[in-house]
Amino acid sequence: AVGSETALTVSPVDPDVTTDLLGGLAIETSEDIEVPPRLIDQVIGQERARDIVTKAAQQRRHVMMIGSPGTGKSMLSKAMAELLPKESVQDVLVYHNPNDGNKPKVRTVPSGKGKRIVEAHKEEARKAGQFRSFLMWGIIFVVLGYSILVAGELLLGILAAGILFLMFRYGSRRRSGLIPNLLVSTDSESTAPFVDATGSHAGALLGDVRHDPYQSGGLETPSHDRVEAGGIHRANKGVLFVDEINTLDLRSQQHLLTAMQEREFSITGQSERSSGAMVKTEPVPTDFVLVAAGNLDAMVNIHPALRSRIKGYGYEVYMEDTVEDTPEMRQKYARFVAQEVAKDDRLPPFTREAIAEVVLEAQRRAGRKGQLTVEFRTLGGLVRVAGDVARSEDATVTTRDHVLQAKRRARSIEQQIADGYIERRKDYDIAMADGSVVGRVNGLAVMGEDSGIVLPVMAEVTPSQGPGSVIATGKLQDIAREAVQNVSAIIKKHSGTTLHGRDVHIQFVQAGQGGVDGDSASVTIATAVISALEGIGVDQSTAMTGSLSVRGDVLPVGGITHKIEAAAKAGMSTVIIPAANVQDVMVEAEYREMVDIVPVSHISEVLAHALDGEPETDSLVGRLAEFTDTVFDGVGRG
Ligand code: ADP
Repeated sequence: AVGSETALTVSPVDPDVTTDLLGGLAIETSEDIEVPPRLIDQVIGQERARDIVTKAAQQRRHVMMIGSPGTGKSMLSKAMAELLPKESVQDVLVYHNPNDGNKPKVRTVPSGKGKRIVEAHKEEARKAGQFRSFLMWGIIFVVLGYSILVAGELLLGILAAGILFLMFRYGSRRRSGLIPNLLVSTDSESTAPFVDATGSHAGALLGDVRHDPYQSGGLETPSHDRVEAGGIHRANKGVLFVDEINTLDLRSQQHLLTAMQEREFSITGQSERSSGAMVKTEPVPTDFVLVAAGNLDAMVNIHPALRSRIKGYGYEVYMEDTVEDTPEMRQKYARFVAQEVAKDDRLPPFTREAIAEVVLEAQRRAGRKGQLTVEFRTLGGLVRVAGDVARSEDATVTTRDHVLQAKRRARSIEQQIADGYIERRKDYDIAMADGSVVGRVNGLAVMGEDSGIVLPVMAEVTPSQGPGSVIATGKLQDIAREAVQNVSAIIKKHSGTTLHGRDVHIQFVQAGQGGVDGDSASVTIATAVISALEGIGVDQSTAMTGSLSVRGDVLPVGGITHKIEAAAKAGMSTVIIPAANVQDVMVEAEYREMVDIVPVSHISEVLAHALDGEPETDSLVGRLAEFTDTVFDGVGRG
């Protein structure tokens, strides 16, 4: 059989391997890597999206980005805002309308001027207020003095003074209402605005007018002061980013479209029954570039008119799912570590071995040979956790060991659940990691996306009253049936033995938790059935995964790396995998020494490895093996 060597690579602590993982970069720590100042130059991979964003920024076009989360959609949108000219940015003011209090006036001024206008108004109001209170106290003093000293009416005097006081107060409150409301202030921004309106409710997206509880009685806040800008207004002259665009309700999508077409949108109260709903401002500018994002499913729920607007006046781009693993790209991934460290600016710099470990993790997470993962957000999470581990130890640099600790710490929900199973099962499973048992096979499955688990399968073959059937428990019934059908075809063809008149019982031990994929269990099931049928024990220190064809070929499956690691953790010593998966094996160095990896291409090889003893030539297993030899001879592999 093919040995485990095929799948093994050298340990990454070897300095040459480190250099190799860094794409040949000669650096000591991440501090030696220069981080480009522009965000667009920090984006790794995503060539197409980067080109489009650059072009769209020049032409002020809308963009739709579709792709997996954490691959740089929001980052590219921010980068786009950086590329837009800052000069055209505006402040927006809302004024009281003396002719119609419910229709506030809107004025735009160059960036930064809005604040000065409001300040000037306030100053004026303050001066007027000072003068008025001087006047007020003067008059009150005179009135009081006159009533007490001249008329001798103390009570009447106090009453008159009180009335005067209230009149002045009311007057000044009204007057202060004449200060304009600085609706959009762009003063403090160094680039064109970037507004993330993901998940915004209508008010936050389209603007709102607050309800005034004191509508009558003259104490009300003037309507123009209750106007609030929405994302579409704050993004004026900049970028409006809406991720998960499909979750925006259709009415909001419709309004968004209107704002894009008209480049202005009046603000009105969004809750129908509040006093705000009576107010409607003059149009407020909404001259933004929309970046709508989502995953592929999002396309279904996008308002068709909005989609066609983007198509007609912009670009659509699909984010790349993979990045080719080249030395240049590895250098960029090393720069990614430096970028994330710079962004957080509390994390100790990473040593070259630590960076190499992150690159290795990017390879592993890609799940395919020759690729690196593009899920940068989670990779960035690993960098931060590793840095935090280093910080908690007061280390001056983040080392490879910190990265390894972080990997154990930053585990997904699925991984944590899987860890729980493994812990719990260790108690009674240890006995099962050795010896041999008829009809019991340690299968391997993946939970969630990145968590392997040992999933034992038990089979029993009994005489049937009827023609025989497959009885499976748990959620994997369909898979069990299919696997048994395939295996029975193989058995029938090559041994004359038939499953007719027998019941095959399949039980998945502890598969009830769900979240387990079952396609890759068919080789396991077949092995369990053959073991039960022939009464030959299965080696319990062996785990296996693979999909089975009707002809007995073992076909590749997903999640191979996670499965192998799960087997290693559960104490298995041998893992049988489809030969076609060998290139996908990217097992952490820590686990490599723990298991032997045996690649196979036919069920007979599985049986040869997993079943006890030398197969007797006249047995089913023997005949299957013979059959395989002839097949191999046929294709010139023997
Ligand atoms: P998305 O919007 O696609 O869900 P983000 O742009 O919010 O993803 O990415 C989250 C973080 O991951 C970014 O802030 C950045 O630090 C990092 N990141 C994502 N994509 C890339 C990329 N292509 N190149 C470099 N860093 C990236």
